[in-house]
Parts: sequence; C-alpha cells; structure tokens
Amino acid sequence: MRTEHETGSGSGGDAYDSDLLIVGAGPVGLYAAYYAGFRGMSVTVIDALDEPGGQMAALYPEKKVYDIAGIPAVKAQDVVNALVEQASQAKPRYLLGHTAQTLEHTADGIAVTTHQGTVVTAKAALVTGGIGSFTPRPLPTGSEYENRGLRYFVPKPAELTGADVVVVGGGDSAVDWALALEPLARTVSLVHRRPRFRAHEHSVRQLRASSVRLYTPHEVHRISGENCVEQVELMSLETGATENLRADAVVAALGFVANLGPLATWGFEMRGRHIAVDRTMRTSRPRVYAAGDIADYDGKVALISVGFGEAALAVNNLAPLVDPALGTVPGHSSDGQ
Ligand SMILES: Cc1cc2nc3c(=O)[nH]c(=O)nc-3n(C[C@H](O)[C@H](O)[C@H](O)COP(=O)(O)OP(=O)(O)OC[C@H]3O[C@@H](n4cnc5c(N)ncnc54)[C@H](O)[C@@H]3O)c2cc1C
Repeated sequence: MRTEHETGSGSGGDAYDSDLLIVGAGPVGLYAAYYAGFRGMSVTVIDALDEPGGQMAALYPEKKVYDIAGIPAVKAQDVVNALVEQASQAKPRYLLGHTAQTLEHTADGIAVTTHQGTVVTAKAALVTGGIGSFTPRPLPTGSEYENRGLRYFVPKPAELTGADVVVVGGGDSAVDWALALEPLARTVSLVHRRPRFRAHEHSVRQLRASSVRLYTPHEVHRISGENCVEQVELMSLETGATENLRADAVVAALGFVANLGPLATWGFEMRGRHIAVDRTMRTSRPRVYAAGDIADYDGKVALISVGFGEAALAVNNLAPLVDPALGTVPGHSSDGQ
C-alpha cells in the first residue's frame, strides 16, 4: 500500500525537521507514528524498504495473524494497511527506500543521515528497526533451483493453487505456510529435521488435523527437475531410507539471517543483537528510544502486541523532550469525542 503523505523520495542532500524521527516503518514504527500525532508531534518515518509494514508486509503479507488484540483473525497486509491509515492522522513524512546510516547529537536534539545523504533533524528519535534487514537462511541443497520452484517467501499464495508443494522447516513460518497453502495446493508436504515442531501449539494442533503430509525427522536430500523443480528426494534421519515426492514448488522456511546493519554501529548499549532499553524504552543514547523487536529488557517477548504497547510507552515517555509542556500522561484518545 502506498502511503498518502510520502515525500522526500530521496535526492541526496535533502534536509527535513520534525519533532520525532522514527527509524523503521514496521508495525511498531507505524503505530508509534500514529501515537506521536495523537500527542501533537510532527513525525518523520524512515525505512530501508520501499513499502511500509516491516516483516508483516515483506515476509508474510498473505498470512493470517491471530493475536492482534480485538481482531480474532486478520491478514498481515490488512493489519499494515490499517496501521498506515491510522498513522495518516499524524500526517507523517515517509522517507521510504532510505537506510538510516548515522546518528549524531545536535544542540537540542538528534540528526540522522540516510544512505542517500538526506538529513533528518528531530528533538528525539525512536528506533523501531525490528530485526534490521532480513535475508532467508538458505536450504543446504538445491540452491540452483532458486526462482525456479525453490522459494523463501510466498507473497502470493494463490500462485500455488493446484500445485504440489513441499514446505521445509519446523518453526512457526513453516507450519503457518503449510496451513495457509493447504486449501489452495493439490498437496502440501511438510519436511522437518526433528520429530517435534517449534511452532505455536494451536498451529501444530491445526496441522495435525489437516491434510498436510508430515515427514519428520526427514531432510531434503536432493531437488531435481529439468528446468524447474519437479521432484524432491527426502531422506529419513532415523533409517536413512529415501523417498521421492512430486513437487512444483519447494518453500524453504528455515528462518532468517538478520542484519542490524548501521544500527549496530550507533553505540547503543546492546543485549546481544538487540538494543537495551529501560522501563521507559530509553536507550543508552540521550534522546533516543527503541521499541518493538529491536528493543530488549528482562522478560521481553517479541510480539506485535507487545511492540504496540512499547510504542505507546516510548512516545509518551519521550514527549517531554519534544515539548516540556506535554508531560508523559496522554489522556484518552476518546476524550472530547
Ligand atoms: C513468518 C512470520 C510470522 C509471524 N507471525 C507473527 C504473529 O502471528 N504474531 C506476532 O505478534 N508476531 C508475528 N511475527 C513477528 C512480527 O512480525 C514482529 O514481531 C514484528 O514485525 C516486529 O515489528 P517491528 O516494527 O518491531 O519490526 P519489523 O517488522 O522488523 O520492521 C522493522 C523495519 O525497520 C526497517 N529498518 C531496519 N533497519 C533500518 C535502517 N537502518 N534504516 C531504515 N530502516 C530500517 C526494516 O526495513 C523494517 O521495515 C511473525 C514473524 C514472521 C517472520
């Protein structure tokens, strides 16, 4: 979904000023943009990707999400569209296709420069960079079939209607893809190296009740086909026996190698690959807050619903930096309606 207020498509040397700069237009950054507007701030949102929505839009737009408060089941892209619409109340300036490269302090705020040379100054920054840029972990065999039947994303599941699909992996993504494709594909087989799946129990129960054929503990031994994927040879890790499956598509859902990129060099106190924050979501750098997957503290759970709460916490706690008259207590969005 294109954003209504997109500007600054990025000739180098542009300069913008806002009350708040948000780095990362994933679900958490988008909600933070809405919230900043609700608190009366002007806001600029930077994202390295060309579309807002972070992991939801880039990695699983067609998948259903079941744990957004108040919405029993919703397509990830629909959540993103709703967040963009909600954020539009704040009239954010989006700088999409811009990687935030450096962070400096100014006399009364911060300045972030993007890889295109655009400089954004603000009173405060909120980093919602998620897992940074993400690339899929490759399948150990069959890489020559990439884009010829072997894929790591399924942005449009309908393309696999009537196909024989082999999904590889044992985590949430693999199980969710298998379930999402089951009603569309002719057959879905799920191959996992371990006997147990690492996915949500509810999804695993759905999987076991579905027509998805389970191969555990098995691995993909070989992919073959003249021009594109036609057959997948599986090997049992218990007996060493092999079995051939007819296949039009192999979906490798083995997780992602995440790269924090420039954010890792901004001098934050880190907890592993995450930015350490206190209970107000403040980082170790003055005027810089963090929320969502990238922020870490004792007891952290990396979920969208948690990130939404963190966004509200961060924006309310940084509000006095933008304007001391604002205070940290927001009032209710329904007040005065
Ligand atoms: C397959 C899959 C299924 C999932 N299902 C669920 C689910 O059902 N429920 C749930 O709660 N969670 C789920 N998640 C996790 C959920 O998607 C994340 O918790 C959520 O996306 C985190 O949001 P975020 O805004 O913090 O980060 P992200 O969504 O990762 O967005 C961060 C954004 O920051 C940008 N960025 C990073 N570095 C820079 C930089 N230097 N400059 C500019 N931009 C930058 C990235 O391009 C990205 O767009 C799932 C994840 C996957 C992969």
